[in-house]
Amino acid sequence: MTPGRYLALRRLAAGLSRADVESLAGLPPASVANLEEAAGGWVVGKLIDPATAYDQLAGVFPLCPIVLRRLATRETVRICLACGCSEMDACDDEEHGPCSWAGPAHCTDCERKGVLPE
Ligand SMILES: [Zn+2]
Ligand SMILES: [Zn+2]
Repeated sequence: MTPGRYLALRRLAAGLSRADVESLAGLPPASVANLEEAAGGWVVGKLIDPATAYDQLAGVFPLCPIVLRRLATRETVRICLACGCSEMDACDDEEHGPCSWAGPAHCTDCERKGVLPE
């Protein structure tokens, strides 16, 4: 998964459009599209830096800085393909507690809500 795809999953799980995020984070138009679509452009310390992107977006929707950095360095991270959660950043439902894996690519929280990866 690319860091941009991870951002898009987390954004959509929070129910936000790109324009919503730009207005909430005070970013110029098209900056979210730029982050999400910059498939090869994520390099630690250059171009699109995961730490900078995290600082810009973290207050707006749930995002894990460790996951973002690992994806930017091409590490494989197991991520729920429905909501973007991971073992470092599990869903935490008030009633059901933290999620776990319900299948190879989705978590128990998404399973319970009937939200399955495409
Ligand atoms: Zn999930
Ligand atoms: Zn989850």
